[in-house]
Amino acid sequence: MTLPPTTPMAPGAHKFPQVTGIRWFNVAILVLTPLIAVYGLAFVPLVTKTTVFACGYYLFSMLGITAGYHRLWSHRSYNACLPLQIFLMLGGISSVQGSCYFWARSHRSHHRWTDTEKDPYDSSRGLFWTHLGWIIFKTKLRSGPVDSSDLGTDPLVQWTHYNYFPLAAVFGYALPALIPALWNDFWGGFCFSGALRLTIAHHCTFAINSLAHYLGSTPYDDRLSPRDHLLSAILTMGEGYHNFHHQFPMDYRNAYLWYQYDPTKWFIAVCKLLGLASNLRVFPSNEIAKGALTMQLKHLKKVQDSIIWPREVEQLPIVTWDNFQEESKSRPLILVSGFIHDVSTFLDQHPGGAACLTKNTGKDMTAAFFGGVYRHSNAAHNLMSMMRVGILAGGVCPPNQSIPPSQVLFVARRQQPDTQPDTPTQ
Ligand SMILES: [Zn+2]
Ligand SMILES: [Zn+2]
Repeated sequence: MTLPPTTPMAPGAHKFPQVTGIRWFNVAILVLTPLIAVYGLAFVPLVTKTTVFACGYYLFSMLGITAGYHRLWSHRSYNACLPLQIFLMLGGISSVQGSCYFWARSHRSHHRWTDTEKDPYDSSRGLFWTHLGWIIFKTKLRSGPVDSSDLGTDPLVQWTHYNYFPLAAVFGYALPALIPALWNDFWGGFCFSGALRLTIAHHCTFAINSLAHYLGSTPYDDRLSPRDHLLSAILTMGEGYHNFHHQFPMDYRNAYLWYQYDPTKWFIAVCKLLGLASNLRVFPSNEIAKGALTMQLKHLKKVQDSIIWPREVEQLPIVTWDNFQEESKSRPLILVSGFIHDVSTFLDQHPGGAACLTKNTGKDMTAAFFGGVYRHSNAAHNLMSMMRVGILAGGVCPPNQSIPPSQVLFVARRQQPDTQPDTPTQ
């Protein structure tokens, strides 16, 4: 039996896909909701009680997405007791972004197939596609397969999936209007804790798929598009440390240092203190440090490759003492640590004066250089190594003095057995 070939799914630049239809229901939600919010801002007076309620309901909706739909159900990064599950599920539903079953499966597919054609919000298709396009357009694209068997057997996930539309109508629109009606502000509730809250929650959440794959740094891996940025984190209740998250998706934190802005992480940690959450998963800090160091070394390697270094010892000619003496008559050559240096271009810049060099041409100045006359700095040692023109046959190099300070530590690339040697970056 022959094993079937796989279809390569390498990340790449993909165009905006061909649109085959419009998802009018989603368009209606995403157009009418902001229009109601704008109408409210223009014509409905803002009541303090409603404003406070709207802010609280916004947190409820956002935590439902970030701590619920995302970290609990998409990634199973912690366990939640049933009351917390219900709270988060209703919060997620109140943000009107589809059922948890739909949301978590799409998100798992995004992680499994990041930046490929099977990624439902493939970042290479542009910001508009990842922010809104994939929600409002029908295309021939299909999300890549993922294991969602746990979601398929989760009664809460399944029940809310099959009852999503009435639940979304109640928790997304009706309740945020009816609760302020208790203090006679139905329209304020409808426009602000309903429509305005939803509009902000929608676009802040969508920013995880768009902005968090576009703006920021890649401190753990730069092969794919996810990025870390404080702005994305502020907009998304801490989800903006997206480079970290794509590297360590099972970690309940998106920002692993306790003080980094990640309110969702703090919320989950408090739930644990209250006994509502358990089994908070964290990636070993040793492995996180490896990821960070890999990127730091990669950056340092680039810097290292951009610097001009002294000639390799193997490239220098070995000359006799007599040759050294002979050549010293026509140009200022100084012997230090067994290396012959041509200091002619440095005479005017020598802080100790040119005469100090010219009168010692043809001499071994090792002792003088390393403290006999003046204990030269690391910078002087580095600079002098650039003037090496030869090695004295039989010359003696004092221990630990042949390698300039700037070359004691260096970044080297290990070659995989089947790859070609690296070409230095120019
Ligand atoms: Zn992502
Ligand atoms: Zn995720």
